[in-house]
Amino acid sequence: MKQILIVEDETRIAAFIAKGLKAKGYNTTIVEDAETALATPFSCQFDLALLDLGLPGQDGLTVLETWRGQGVSFPVIILTARDDVMDKVAGFKGGADDYMTKPFSFAELLARIEVRLKASNNSQQNQAKMQIQQGNMILDLRTRKIYIGDREVELPAREFTMAEVFFRHPGQVLTRQQLLDLVWGYDYDPGSNIVDVYVGYLRKKLGSTSIETVRGMGYRLGSG
Ligand code: CA
Repeated sequence: MKQILIVEDETRIAAFIAKGLKAKGYNTTIVEDAETALATPFSCQFDLALLDLGLPGQDGLTVLETWRGQGVSFPVIILTARDDVMDKVAGFKGGADDYMTKPFSFAELLARIEVRLKASNNSQQNQAKMQIQQGNMILDLRTRKIYIGDREVELPAREFTMAEVFFRHPGQVLTRQQLLDLVWGYDYDPGSNIVDVYVGYLRKKLGSTSIETVRGMGYRLGSG
């Protein structure tokens, strides 16, 4: 169940939002001042926050900037009576994902919440696709590194491409010709032993059993 944090000092509004969200199947937590808001969401326990700007103690914008400075990455929708363009600009600059002014309709707020939750879900999925795990090795397409336990291995471009080809064909024997085609394209000398040389580089960096030789056939991804 999605957890939504409501930072709002007007109890009537907070209760109204919480009631509506609960009816739609969300869990809600209400906090009424900036200090509590800053003490609450240290980890990623919330999926989204609704944030009022006019709060007792510190301003909502300070809360937002502090969160973002701490690496808190859940979507934040500012919900405020302030409708000045400069306030909106400051809100977005401070790391808000959306901005709604009071009075608001619950239907519109719900629609905006759903859009934000969907977007953050997608970005998490995209991030997941950026990593391919095989055994105890993780190949990260974003950082272009391979992680083996605590070890982090950085590879030159061509070696990384070859590793990626192996990771994308787990359990499959790849012939020298296939590796030449997939890693070098037409950019190679057909008579060369470049595949064997590069397999040697990968074994040296990822572990001697990372690439297995399948006699008379080619190579296969092993374990790091
Ligand atoms: Ca307020």
